[in-house]
Amino acid sequence: CGIIAHAGADDAVGTLIDGLERLEYRGYDSAGIAVQNGSGIAVHKRAGDVSEVRDEIQTAASSGDVGIGHTRWSTHGPPTDENAHPHTSDTDNVAVVHNGIIENHAELREFLSDEGYEFTSDTDTEVIPHLFEHFRKQESETIAAFRRAVEELEGSYAIAALVRDEGRVYAARAGSPLVLGLDDGQYYLASDIPAFIEHTRDVVYLEDGDVVILEPDEAHIFDENGLSVDRSGERVDWNP
Ligand code: GLU
Repeated sequence: CGIIAHAGADDAVGTLIDGLERLEYRGYDSAGIAVQNGSGIAVHKRAGDVSEVRDEIQTAASSGDVGIGHTRWSTHGPPTDENAHPHTSDTDNVAVVHNGIIENHAELREFLSDEGYEFTSDTDTEVIPHLFEHFRKQESETIAAFRRAVEELEGSYAIAALVRDEGRVYAARAGSPLVLGLDDGQYYLASDIPAFIEHTRDVVYLEDGDVVILEPDEAHIFDENGLSVDRSGERVDWNP
């Protein structure tokens, strides 16, 4: 029910977990994060409270400067550790968090299963990492593969994704909120402003159909036609 993503100089892990705690008011039954670190993508997720994910990470001592996080309000599949987000492709090359519902998940799952992708959860969401991976094998540019995956989805979504060995976040929205936060050398994406307001008050409200690439020193926004757009930002003057 809440998404956060971060790219920047600060350690992503603390930023993501703090952000998820600030989204707790939206309600949730599971939580998780994925960060890009030296050896690939590290995923920590479980049914239960954000604080339990925090405890697990302290033991694992994960760190990284690019990452995604999620609080889940189950719609497809019970609140279990396996159904918690992020979800990964079976080769762990991509990790995805998603808010909303993928209406055509059953037919996509059937197609992907026929292609040899193995599903490990009951969620509608898990079709997204496999679709993304499927198109990555066909496209030389990751953004083209991400866009093709998103184009297959029917329903409502805010999505954020990590790709192994790429220090950036890919994101998209249609019918679910997603806000970009811009700071000096730091970028944030979240379902709602409280997730990052302690870091920045400069925000851009993304529009339906937008696709975003978030890098530690840059954010690119593309509209529903794939054209690069410069959306005007605004400064938030209220306190959450
Ligand atoms: N439909 C997805 C699931 O059940 C995402 C739910 C949400 O928005 O948290 O896992």
